[in-house]
Amino acid sequence: MRAGGDGRFYITTAIPYVNAAPHIGHALEFVQTDVIARANRLMGREVLLLTGADENSLKNVKAAEEQKITTQQLCDRNAAYFMELAQKMNLSFGVFMRSSLREAHWPGVQRLWQLCDGAGDIYRKKYSGLYCVGCEQFYTEGELVGGLCPEHKTKPEPVEEENYFFRLSKYQDALQKLIEEDRLRVWPQSRKNEVLGFIRGGLEDFSISRSVARARGWGVPVPGDSSQIMYVWLDALSIYMTGVGYGTSDKEFGKWWPTDVHVIGKGIIRFHAVYWPAILLSAGIDLPKSVFVHGYLTVEGEKMSKSIGNVVSPLALLGKYTADELRYYLIRDIPTFEDGDFSEAALKDRVNKELLGDLGNLVNRVLTIVEKSGFTDFSGKNELGGMLDADAVVGALGAMELHNALGMIMEFVRACNRYVNDKAPWKLDGEELRGVLYNLLEAMRIVSVLMYPFIPETSEKIAGKLGTRITGFAECRFRESFTERTAKGEHLFKKIE
Ligand SMILES: [Zn+2]
Repeated sequence: MRAGGDGRFYITTAIPYVNAAPHIGHALEFVQTDVIARANRLMGREVLLLTGADENSLKNVKAAEEQKITTQQLCDRNAAYFMELAQKMNLSFGVFMRSSLREAHWPGVQRLWQLCDGAGDIYRKKYSGLYCVGCEQFYTEGELVGGLCPEHKTKPEPVEEENYFFRLSKYQDALQKLIEEDRLRVWPQSRKNEVLGFIRGGLEDFSISRSVARARGWGVPVPGDSSQIMYVWLDALSIYMTGVGYGTSDKEFGKWWPTDVHVIGKGIIRFHAVYWPAILLSAGIDLPKSVFVHGYLTVEGEKMSKSIGNVVSPLALLGKYTADELRYYLIRDIPTFEDGDFSEAALKDRVNKELLGDLGNLVNRVLTIVEKSGFTDFSGKNELGGMLDADAVVGALGAMELHNALGMIMEFVRACNRYVNDKAPWKLDGEELRGVLYNLLEAMRIVSVLMYPFIPETSEKIAGKLGTRITGFAECRFRESFTERTAKGEHLFKKIE
């Protein structure tokens, strides 16, 4: 992970289509993005996290027609669900950008178009092809699976019209070099290989507009041609720029651009690692530094789909579980870059066994003994510090290995519990007791800091009980003594039946 020389760090979630309410996959992406954002704050960087809503798609027009409401009404309603999810999951976002915001979004997209046009990379061409409305993308016969869209398993529509095209073919060599040299880094390596394979297979120019009629007049108009509306992908990708002032505030844009990390799902990798950098190269704008690609979630082993009726609503889950419980489960159970399976039984199990059983009980039992001990300052021989490599945890976070970082912290929490069992501090007194509690208090203080990116509310609560504050990873060293005043208070977690 590289931050700008000025210590700023700009990270984005993918911008979700808002044609329906969010599902559990959105929650996973929010948490992953937020963990990286919060970790970078603890590394001392000034961080901006952007999320938002991709609203100018034909899918939204069609969904609104079905529901007999205006497209804007549909977008307002659905964008509000995503905003609600972002807030309830404690996504620490600074910007929620919507592509239907004319004044904030349109000027930047149109400027970007004009720059590409000025570079000679936009031309008109008659086109016919197979178009998946769900993907907002043309497919070649070879890309279909049994004649159906590989994402949606639906038959794409034949579409013929004259559109504007972007000269992607011109950027083939440049893109290949950028990705090979990690100047545009793709996480993980397997996805990088996939992108390189796609580029080496040959890049074809792609359509970046459609007729006003087919778009039903919904979207950003092409500058200087009232018959055409911009392709939704060009428009949606631009949110990453317009959300930080592109087209409206050069000062703000200069402060944050380029993006350090675009967090996305594996289905939209081409748009982010091929089309988007090519457009920016054409426009002469700095490229994002990296793209982080996560997998998809199945539900209890099945693909999530409306027809099966197994779509998991994270907003419904947040009525039963706390944000930290859901955040913890999603990072702990889902390998960072691979597909994973959501199971509510596994979620309960993680909460009961690990959050309540390991972490919650450690804090509770230690603070109980601290209160009974009568001591107000603690020191002794450092016996637990060697059980934790805090630098390795921070390193794993920097290398985007979120799952491994959390695993290392929990390993240490379990080591602390074993230490309590071995030392049996309830049988000790005097300097021996003081020394054991010193180790445990310092360990919990460090755990509160390291856990903060994952479960921020709980970490703040632990720090509150310890009388300490979470300010940065630099604090993750055992100090000579622990002198803060602790307050045991309530248990951190409740058992879930
Ligand atoms: Zn599709």
